[in-house]
Amino acid sequence: MKGAILVLSGPSGAGKSTIINHASDAIGEYYFSISTTTRKSREGEKDGVDYYFVSHEAFEEGIKAGDFLEYATVHGNYYGTSLKPVNEALEQGKLVIFDIDIQGHRLVRAKMGDFVTSAFITPPTLKELEKRLYARATDDTSIIERRVANAKEEIKALGEFDFVIINDEISKASKEFTTIANAARLKQNGEALEKFIKIWDN
Ligand code: 5GP
Repeated sequence: MKGAILVLSGPSGAGKSTIINHASDAIGEYYFSISTTTRKSREGEKDGVDYYFVSHEAFEEGIKAGDFLEYATVHGNYYGTSLKPVNEALEQGKLVIFDIDIQGHRLVRAKMGDFVTSAFITPPTLKELEKRLYARATDDTSIIERRVANAKEEIKALGEFDFVIINDEISKASKEFTTIANAARLKQNGEALEKFIKIWDN
């Protein structure tokens, strides 16, 4: 494999997709892994663009068939990363970006080891996160409360990540994200290093 993986985690409402969109011209060619989920689509979300929205049954069939590189239950719904398109993109030498939760990060790191660079993206405070979730007005209060409670747990995993981006100001956060994406591309994996040593030694 020639590509690299960049895992982004952080609470819903941290601004992960905004940052990726903002930085997309600056980070060169990449493949964004579109996850599959059993959650209902929000207004404005498109199937096959934001997520692949599937039924509970279809998701469990995918699990049985071994379709997922990783999957987890987040806020009571299944979310998973399909293996095939990720492998294809890696074979093509692309940077593959994942927006997955902390459980997904642990699983991907365990499976893909030194192909992985990771960053946790968070608003500066929990209060600010709450404010953004209410302002976004895409979820009911009970769902927002669940997301806030989840965020309080997720922040404890901060130390497991290579980088932390505090999304206070979007242009600054996007610049930091661009630097991290470039570093992820340059990061060497054991397989590539062994090959290089053999060629270098000949
Ligand atoms: P949302 O419902 O706000 O789109 O996403 C909720 C959470 O699920 C976010 O923290 C997001 O990073 C995470 N998530 C999205 N896709 C995946 C996935 O494929 N696997 C895992 N483990 N988490 C995911």
